[in-house]
Order: sequence, then C-alpha cells, then structure tokens
Amino acid sequence: MSTLPSDPSTGAAVKAADRAHVFHSWSAQGLIDPLPIAGAEGSYFWDYDGNRYLDFSSQLVNTNIGHQHPKVVAAIQEQAGKLCTLAPGFAVDVRSEAARLIAERTPGDLDKIFFTNGGAEAVENAVRMARLHTGRPKVLSTYRSYHGATAAAINLTGDPRRWPSDNASAGVVHFWGPFLYRSPFHAENEAQECERALAHLEQTIAFEGPQSIAAIILETIPGTAGIMTPPPGYLAGVREICDRHGIVFILDEVMAGFGRTGHWFAADHFGVTPDLLTFAKGVNSGYVPLGGVAISAEIAATFDQRPYPGGLTYSGHPLACASAVATINAMAEERIVENAAEIGETVIGPALREIAERHPSVGEVRGLGVFWALDLVRNKETREPLVPYNAAGADNAPMAEFAAACKRGGLWPFVNMNRTHVVPACTITEAEAKEGLAALDAALTVADAHT
Ligand code: PMP
Repeated sequence: MSTLPSDPSTGAAVKAADRAHVFHSWSAQGLIDPLPIAGAEGSYFWDYDGNRYLDFSSQLVNTNIGHQHPKVVAAIQEQAGKLCTLAPGFAVDVRSEAARLIAERTPGDLDKIFFTNGGAEAVENAVRMARLHTGRPKVLSTYRSYHGATAAAINLTGDPRRWPSDNASAGVVHFWGPFLYRSPFHAENEAQECERALAHLEQTIAFEGPQSIAAIILETIPGTAGIMTPPPGYLAGVREICDRHGIVFILDEVMAGFGRTGHWFAADHFGVTPDLLTFAKGVNSGYVPLGGVAISAEIAATFDQRPYPGGLTYSGHPLACASAVATINAMAEERIVENAAEIGETVIGPALREIAERHPSVGEVRGLGVFWALDLVRNKETREPLVPYNAAGADNAPMAEFAAACKRGGLWPFVNMNRTHVVPACTITEAEAKEGLAALDAALTVADAHT
C-alpha cells in the first residue's frame, strides 16, 4: 500500500477548482460537497487529509479488479507508447483481441462485438439493432431498472431518474419484473412470483401488439434498482415468450457482467442466452471508458450485406481495448471471478444475514458474489421503507445519516433510496470484507434509530 499523502492544502485547491468549473452528474450544483481524492489502490482510496476508505461501492460498481491493478496500468502505459488512437474502421491488434476474449466468454453465439464508450451507448445501439432487425418500433423494459442516461436508455430506465427525461425517445413501454419482497403481484413465493410476472408480460405484449415490439430489455439481475435476482424459470420464460413472438431479447449486463455475480456473466447462472448482451464497467473496470454490445449470429447477419447505420469516433479505442485485454487476462489468471463467488458465499452472504437478524432496520438481504443489497425499513413486519420512495432533503435524512456514519468508520458505501449495496471489488480479500462488514454493522445502528 502506498503511503497516504496528507496534504490538506492541495485537497482544498482541487476542491476550489472543482467548485468553480466542474458541472457534476445528477446533482444540484450548489448543494454538493465533492470529496477531493488523492489516490487509490486495490480495495481502498484516500483523501488529502489522510483518511482512507474501504471502497464498498467499487465507485459506480465498476472497479471489479480493484483500483490500480498493476497489470492493467502497465498495459495502458505500453499501449500509450505504441498507438493511442485509431479510427474504428481499421483492424487493430488490441481491438481484435479484446473482441475475441469477450466473445469467448459471452453465452451462446454472441460472437460479434460492437464497442462503445460506456453502458448507455451500448443500450442505444442494442435497441437500434433490434429495431432494424425486426422492423418494429417498440421496446419493453421493467419499472425497477436503470439502463443509462442517453435518450433511449433513460426512457427505458424505469426508476425515477427517468422522470425529468420522459419522452426523450418514442416507443418505450414499461412493465413489472419479478421482485418477491415487494411483489407487484402479491405473490407469496418465488414460483408464484415467476408465474404471475410471466403472465403479466404476456398480457402486456398482447395489448401492445406483438407485431410492433422490437425488443424486451432486462438487466439480468437488476442492479441500481435493488439487486433483485429473478426467480428460477423467469428469464427462461422471457426467452420463450420472445422466441414465440419474434421479439429480440436484450440482457443488460453493464453492472452484473464481468465477474460481479461470481460468474463471467449473470446470464450464466440461469443458462439463458439473449440475442444481444450489453456490457461496460467490469469489462476493463472503467480504467478507460469502454462498453459494447455482444451480438448473436442471426442479428449480425442482418448487417452482413447492408450497412449498420451507427458508429462512434472512439469505438474500440486502443487504450480501452488494451485495458480490457489486460483486465480479462488478469481476472482469469488470478481467479478473480472465482474469488467473487467464494467470498460472497462464504463471507459476505453469511455475515449480512447475521447482521440482518440483529438490526431492526434491515428488512431483507439479497444478492450473490460481490453484488448484495440491504433493503432498509422502518418496520420489518410492514416492510415500510426507511425513507419514502425517491426521498430528497429532510425526508432522506436517515439514509444520509447512515452514509455519513459509514464514512466516519472508514467505509465508502453505495446508497440508493432506502437501500445500501455491498458491491466491493471482485478482488476483495476475506480480511478486507470483514473490516468493511464490521464498519457497516456499526453504521446500521444509526439506521436502527429510525425504526
Ligand atoms: N445499464 C446498467 C444496468 C447500468 O447499471 C448502467 C450504469 N449504472 C448503465 C446501463 C449505463 O452505463 P453508463 O453509465 O456507462 O452509460
């Protein structure tokens, strides 16, 4: 571990320049107080005042390989010395190799890779491919979802981040996915939830008109909306419905892919192959912006003799692809996906279940690998969320107090609405996981005070 710099005056200067000139995502610019960060390594990052944080958020759930993995840093440095940029029309060694390594790992015949700069662009292009492939206009997605912040992606998003951008693109229809803990179908068990969710989707399709539906897009395991593993049979059921109606099945693995769930892709848990699979984040842990769409043979064939009308200046950027090659190789060599599975099963899962028993504010624990959510409640019986849906300001105080308590305890949490997610790097060690879980345990007493 590098020595922690302790240089508050530099931190203050960084923050002053930020406040003067940086316009931040998703924020009221006058109300935010961004923490200046001096460095990061592995599962930790630190500020200029000498405070170190265990990163239980993996930033935005992207640093699957941890911060500053030496093999990935070296690969970027080496590529920068050789060739920094080249237009997407050329064949480039690192681009070819990244595509091969990704295609080898995606399920089924998803063997062609279209590269983007991130997740939202991957979703935009997957939707465009589906519409052109089918000649149909509509796309179905679930309410409890997040697919990105560009036009089609934000409209496909079901959670409230969509509201200010509603109608940015046409043809989006939302439906309810399965979620037993807060079941939209009043189901009592997983089998019932699965059956009712599939029947609801069938009805939605019948009333929208299957002949006008290009695609259904689902996060394999919805991430920011609450890490809700679908019941057994649900994704296979959606696959069958799509096949029956000639609808393209898109799985969004931007957050769940590349090791987070303890498999290369979350789809591997369910034995389901979509027609298109979107990825980003973990593909290279976000060291250089990268995302993409893995495309089935059938959809790729649509654009064999007819041009695909879409592209990006930086599609398959050499620095991004070099970092993806190094990331995927390091994950395989160092058994990082296996580590995520093992630590989830033997350390994080059991500890969170035990924590849930002791804390009145923890309504449900769900997840797998290094992909866990704690659903925080005011009352375990009624399941009333700790803060109201989409709470802001004073209404959100219990969650803000909880997050502040985590940070005081040296833990950087992921917090969204009434949930905290435990989403550390796939490389996390048992000792680090235990350190973070102890800090989380302590901080939850702050949430308990609001039950
Ligand atoms: N899809 C999913 C499932 C995501 O979690 C995200 C980002 N959180 C996106 C798409 C959008 O990715 P990006 O922010 O890279 O555009």
